Amino acid sequence: MKILLKKAIDLALSMGADYADIRYSKFDSESISVKNGQVQGVDYHSDYGVGIRVLCGGAWGFASNPDLDDSVRMETVVKRAVDLAKASNKVSGNNIELAKKESVEDEWASKFEVDPFTVPLEEKLELLMKCCEEMSKVSGVAITNGGLDFIREDRLYMDTEGSEISQKFVQSGGGISCMSLLGGEVQQRSYPSAHRGNHNMAGYEFIKEMDFLQEAPRLAKEVVELHKAILCPTEKMDIILGGSQLVLQVHESCGHAVELDRVLGYEANFAGTSFLTLDKWKNYTYGSKKVNLVQDGTTTRAIGSAKYDDEGVACTKSDLVKDGEFVGYLKSRDSAKFENGVSNGACRAQGWYNVPIVRMTNVHLLPGNETLDELITSTKRGIFMCENRSWSIDDKRWNFQFGSELGWMIENGKITGMVKNPTYTGITPEFWGNCEGVASKDEWKVWGTPNCGKGQPMQVIRVGHGVSYAKFKDVKVGVSK
Ligand SMILES: [Zn+2]
Repeated sequence: MKILLKKAIDLALSMGADYADIRYSKFDSESISVKNGQVQGVDYHSDYGVGIRVLCGGAWGFASNPDLDDSVRMETVVKRAVDLAKASNKVSGNNIELAKKESVEDEWASKFEVDPFTVPLEEKLELLMKCCEEMSKVSGVAITNGGLDFIREDRLYMDTEGSEISQKFVQSGGGISCMSLLGGEVQQRSYPSAHRGNHNMAGYEFIKEMDFLQEAPRLAKEVVELHKAILCPTEKMDIILGGSQLVLQVHESCGHAVELDRVLGYEANFAGTSFLTLDKWKNYTYGSKKVNLVQDGTTTRAIGSAKYDDEGVACTKSDLVKDGEFVGYLKSRDSAKFENGVSNGACRAQGWYNVPIVRMTNVHLLPGNETLDELITSTKRGIFMCENRSWSIDDKRWNFQFGSELGWMIENGKITGMVKNPTYTGITPEFWGNCEGVASKDEWKVWGTPNCGKGQPMQVIRVGHGVSYAKFKDVKVGVSK
């Protein structure tokens, strides 16, 4: 394969390209769904192919193909990429400059203990069915669900600057949920989070660690109790966010907002641009001094991690928001000149058939000094919200509204009861500016979001987020749908 890839990029140069990179990827996935104790689906997917990207006179061209194992086909694919770049170059405004990077020859593989593809399907189905059975024992539970997802990918990257990088990835994830219907009201509880559970760069051991069976009875009990809970009041109060709710808050209001291609207008199709315009770089207060956000493509077990991104740039850890000040973007080689001229290794493609674009690797809210207990006891009146249920954010990542599956009312420093349909709304810098405290590293953990969409054609990518718990004051809660 290496010989074929090398031939293809050399051919691109001979056709007039100034630069070329090529990615070969072999991807396998297994996805299992169980509903009410019945198998809903067992999907296996495999694909492999190559994507070649070329630069001609400051404009990109890209083409992909399921294989290159045929000299006629190779020539056709490379020519298509070069022709596209040459055609694009005729349009004014193309002046792509690639940030410098180190050329490397390297191999890397993610770590895991148990290869999830060797675990028998029966064992996986039995786990999910048992969870459904446990949840359905509680009277009032109408629907039970469970799902498991596994992926593995081998990626080979090569470019005309001399890099040759082989990387292997194994990821595992899943979750369970249940629903209850009463008097026209639907309630849902999920573990460890809604929207297909939690995911790590790990093997089947991660599924065992999550211990779904242990949590199943609690979910069922809570979903039924939610019907009797008080409705989320409509007022301004403190909120504490944790788990997948804080993950989504970070993802939507920070992660997407700091993608430099959105800021430059390279990408505006799927979910808009960003309020963090270039003039705000190192000149804008994003949040309170408690707010420290980083991008870190090197985090152990996070699903956005790699040793190198899809441009062959080493993944890094860098500040996005430091002590509340906006200090950094997520960047690619062709956008880095608008910040400090150095890519931070955040250019990724969904598959061999996609062109790499600026993406989150892993975006974390760094831990603070408090404990969850201290955040609660210091709250006079507020709601503690966890698993996400709904979200909406405008196309500049400015104004948002989120809903959680369950809230816990806090009065005079104590949890006093359950709140149903909790929602809150805010404006990004105002909301983060009201961040009063963040729980410490003892309560910090890595979450995985397997379904981040961006681009046109849309690319769905896997992103990691590390969070603990955070408290925000004077937040408008109980907003109507
Ligand atoms: Zn996203």
